[in-house]
Amino acid sequence: MLTRREMLRTSAAVATTIAIPRIAGAQEAKGFTLPKLPYAVEALEPSIDAETMTIHHTKHHQAYVDNLNKALVGQPEWLSKPIEEVVANYKKLPEAIQPAVRNNGGGHLNHSWFWQMMAKPGTGGEPKGELLKAIDASFGTLDGFKKEFLNAGLTQFGSGWAWLVVGKEKPLAIAKTPNQDSPLMDGGKVLLGCDVWEHAYYLKYRNLRAKYLEAWFAVVNWNFVAELHAKK
Ligand code: MN
Repeated sequence: MLTRREMLRTSAAVATTIAIPRIAGAQEAKGFTLPKLPYAVEALEPSIDAETMTIHHTKHHQAYVDNLNKALVGQPEWLSKPIEEVVANYKKLPEAIQPAVRNNGGGHLNHSWFWQMMAKPGTGGEPKGELLKAIDASFGTLDGFKKEFLNAGLTQFGSGWAWLVVGKEKPLAIAKTPNQDSPLMDGGKVLLGCDVWEHAYYLKYRNLRAKYLEAWFAVVNWNFVAELHAKK
């Protein structure tokens, strides 16, 4: 039989041995987390409905975060790098985990940007100043930009993204990528992106991707695009 004093000592010792690895484990496993949306789920209506936003954020984006953390479990130092760095350098990782990091790291980065690249209709501003000059010099007019961007989104076969990036010949350029690839993987600088995976629009627009893209322009956060452009 243990005395009360011995029992206390024993339970304290057990608590200590359990507590220390738990704290260390929590730090190692921290990894990437789902960012909060910068607005309410219904804020982007009517362009993007609340149900699509909810599923897109809490299911799809969460899955990219979870699967990225799982893929990097054996590379703990990568779990504390900025996600931009992970995506830009994923080819330095062991080959076996590169596809998972490319898809899920790309997914986490693309969506983290995407939420910020949109704003409640009427609050995202319009391109002006240096950004508007760059758009005019690259696409003729803002409408010229919209036409090219919409065309990139429409012609991305299957799942992927349409992008506005810093250009090589002109100040700005349009790009598209399949799956969750990011222009960052090839050294590109992203200013704006639109998710053209069916999960981004199918509940409301069904197969009509063009209708989704046209409605999406109403929720572009040009103020955020201008910030990225100023830092390019
Ligand atoms: Mn998506």
